Amino acid sequence: MANFHIKGKTAVITGASGILCSTLARELAAHGAKIALLDIAPERAGQLAQEINGAGAEAVSFYCDVLNRESIEKAGQAVANRFGGVDILINGAGGNKPAATASPELSFFDLPGDALSWVLNLNLMGTIYPTQVFGRFMAKQGSGCVVNISSMAAFTPLTNTVAYSAAKAAVSNFTQWMAVYFSQNCSPKIRVNAIAPGFLLTQQNDYLLKNPDGSDTERGRKIISGTPMGRYGLPAELAGAVIFLCSPAASFITGAVLPIDGGFSAYCGV
Ligand code: NAD
Repeated sequence: MANFHIKGKTAVITGASGILCSTLARELAAHGAKIALLDIAPERAGQLAQEINGAGAEAVSFYCDVLNRESIEKAGQAVANRFGGVDILINGAGGNKPAATASPELSFFDLPGDALSWVLNLNLMGTIYPTQVFGRFMAKQGSGCVVNISSMAAFTPLTNTVAYSAAKAAVSNFTQWMAVYFSQNCSPKIRVNAIAPGFLLTQQNDYLLKNPDGSDTERGRKIISGTPMGRYGLPAELAGAVIFLCSPAASFITGAVLPIDGGFSAYCGV
């Protein structure tokens, strides 16, 4: 029988109070994992911990800036003191910003370097640094699972989001690199995979994708027509794949980047 259990495992989630990772945190907790919620937004992380604990599961929030090694080391020590080890790391902190996005008002040629670096750093270095810190715990215990968050933009760059697309391509590449490193240098029981979410409808982007009357915007229509399943995904639809990748059922899977996209990456449009 395939074993999809993560009960009793300690899962560290960065960017934990964001839209996607707060959903993942609730789902992993509901499946019996103990959750360390790491974020630079301590209030939201604290509220999420309260909510999860109130539902009878176990979660603690810790301040952690994924771009600051000292901050991650401090959070790592606090997690180890609280839970005794780390079994799962979900590198969820990431994102884009308008100043790093080409538009009719801001051409590619004028995109400011600090905005481009911020996006590259948050998505790539913000995945590498926590893997260094929490990966060391996994190397010592000889087991663990890392799940990175890539994107459709990693397979084929999306228009306008130049740094975000480059950074997510690098996250997918790092996922493969790290999988090989852990297996060859630490333990083949430490696995590293990524999910590549497609287009999800969230409170953050529904104004871009939906008109006030509920119909699709032009961008929304393009996305839906490029998605064979003909709809947006929901944040909760990422959870099954993450739980699977962290469970013994995926014991021979490492270095994979799993699209969760309603077929978007499989479809050339013809
Ligand atoms: P979000 O903005 O809702 O959440 C990001 C979280 O990261 C926030 O809680 C924020 O406080 C935290 N954060 C930002 N900088 C940080 C730092 N330096 N250290 C620690 N935490 C920090 O984003 P989201 O939409 O939930 O996205 C989560 C991940 O999924 C990102 O990597 C994003 O690129 C990726 N992704 C999102 C979508 C989508 O449709 N939302 C699609 C594909 C990939």
